[in-house]
Amino acid sequence: MSQKICSHPACNRVNRFGWRHCRNKVHRDYCSLFCQQNAEGLDGGPVAQTEDELRNYRQRDTCLCCGAGFDREWTENWSNKRLCSQECSNQVAHRKNGKRNFQALVLLKEVDFGQGLTGQDLFDYLKLTVYSVKGAAGVATILRRWIRCGALEKVSRPGSRSTAKAAPLYRFRDNWEETSGATTLGELL
Ligand SMILES: [Zn+2]
Ligand SMILES: [Zn+2]
Repeated sequence: MSQKICSHPACNRVNRFGWRHCRNKVHRDYCSLFCQQNAEGLDGGPVAQTEDELRNYRQRDTCLCCGAGFDREWTENWSNKRLCSQECSNQVAHRKNGKRNFQALVLLKEVDFGQGLTGQDLFDYLKLTVYSVKGAAGVATILRRWIRCGALEKVSRPGSRSTAKAAPLYRFRDNWEETSGATTLGELL
């Protein structure tokens, strides 16, 4: 596999997306969630211009489990942080298939390509993780409960005359908090 450098203008880390032990399983062009959020202006702050600025930058975010605020750092161990504390990590881990399901929700939230992901798209990401999922059909089974509770929608797409029906897209509803009654991704687990 050719080595790719993180797309953040000030970051020279190798992007190891796809490597089994890499913590970043979500953002293909960046080394981490930190760099994706900062480079794309999603963290509300200025884009860091130097490695020193990256090192000193504290990226404010809210925990996907309890909603509390926390700081994300560029330091390798903290650059993919989405949960505020060990307690919240434990809460996710203690649900049945919690970590796998949390990863699926994070993918739908952070990389929907502006329209949604197919079961195959999601499977292509999830197969890079340690969790076992049985293809696009397995993904559909995982997602069913969140469609039922109103958090996700499944959008059918017609095929052209010569092709079979295109695979449906899955995505979060715009007002998913209202429709599902959950306030965080953690509450959907
Ligand atoms: Zn980076
Ligand atoms: Zn938390």
